[in-house]
Amino acid sequence: MTSPIVRFAPSPTGRLHVGNVRTALINWLFAHHQGGKFILRIDDTDLERSTKEYEDGIRTDLSWLGLTWDDSFHQSHRFKEYEAAADKLREMGLLYPCYETADELERKRKIALSRGRPPVYDRAALKLTDDERAKLEADGVKPHWRFRLSGERVEWNDLVRGPQSIDTSSLSDPILIREDGSFLYTMPSVVDDIDAGITHVVRGEDHVTNSGAQIEIFRALGGVAPEMAHTPLLIGADGQGLSKRLGSLSMGELRAQGYEPMAICSLLAKIGTSDNVEARGSLSGLAAEFDFAKIGRAPARFDEAELKHLNATILHGLPFDAVKARLAAVDPRAADEGFWTVVRENCSLLPDVKDWVDTVFGDIAPMVADEDKGFVAEAAALFPAGDVTGETWSAWANAVKDKTGRKGRALFMTLRKALTGQEHGPDMGALLPLIGRERALARLGG
Ligand code: GLU
Repeated sequence: MTSPIVRFAPSPTGRLHVGNVRTALINWLFAHHQGGKFILRIDDTDLERSTKEYEDGIRTDLSWLGLTWDDSFHQSHRFKEYEAAADKLREMGLLYPCYETADELERKRKIALSRGRPPVYDRAALKLTDDERAKLEADGVKPHWRFRLSGERVEWNDLVRGPQSIDTSSLSDPILIREDGSFLYTMPSVVDDIDAGITHVVRGEDHVTNSGAQIEIFRALGGVAPEMAHTPLLIGADGQGLSKRLGSLSMGELRAQGYEPMAICSLLAKIGTSDNVEARGSLSGLAAEFDFAKIGRAPARFDEAELKHLNATILHGLPFDAVKARLAAVDPRAADEGFWTVVRENCSLLPDVKDWVDTVFGDIAPMVADEDKGFVAEAAALFPAGDVTGETWSAWANAVKDKTGRKGRALFMTLRKALTGQEHGPDMGALLPLIGRERALARLGG
């Protein structure tokens, strides 16, 4: 196979969410696995809804994830090419003007449905005489333009879904150009894919029907349709679609919460595939394992709890230098290798370190039950003299045990709660030197 050229084609009308990042990632992994190219195409034909801020956000998010692109272009810079393609289709009799209003179309749709027929456009516009058309034009009615489908079956061997067959007689001729002359996405995408030499169109399965029409447009414009791969959509952990939570699952939001890019990429690369969902340290590691054949037909389940779990694994394995600056941004006291090494196992997300900075250095509320007050005071009196080191905790606990007779949980948990105000946390032997004598004694009420 020659090196593939793929594209990721977001519309800059919102931030990237986990669904479209997965599409970007699959394209990227495939291209990199095969030594190919990944192109970022900005689908901004909708000039009103597209913004520079969203485009910048898309680039920022992709860069943060490590999904670099080899080339990038805007659809809005290519209207001339789209006009030329439209002219070509008109000359071939494959693009025809239609004059129905939205209301008329809706009425036709309802009538078809009430008669038990599929709501397919009836091609009434093709039956207009030249005089009728001229009259409509003279009345100032602006046409929209439809592509004339062949009415035959379009078939392709989808790299994810296997053999596909779409009966174009069951589809309405797609509108390619609106009344105001603006292009819908369908044709520009094909023109771009031909001009950029795209070898594989990899996108979500919500585009399968589009592919039926687009393959015919590819053929009409003289290109060979690329290979196609349509991936199942994402669903939430509860089996529902992600749509309601899309806002909070935007890359911007996940990044703000402190997720590691490789946790997101590891999860999105593996869910819905025959591979186990496991943390991977690099995109090249994921690319080496990529294969369309591993992607299943069932929706891929996106579970934030799983994401958090992967995040913890990746975070704990990062060298200190890779996290130092971010720790410093949370709190300068967190940017200390000794401190981080002690508390990181208790951080699923890097910003969790704030809790441990507060626990170690802050004004915590010791948790001491009334019946433990005497015991804690006794323990305070036994706190070993000298520097607080890695040995202090066990030496102290032994002394407290010998003196009071308490042992096990009644001993260790009571002291942990008094010293940290919490029931869980890092190993006390390692934590105690960070808390230090003064704070420890203050918390013990000594
Ligand atoms: N802009 C389209 C979308 O976001 C691109 C679809 C495609 O990849 O062809 O749905």
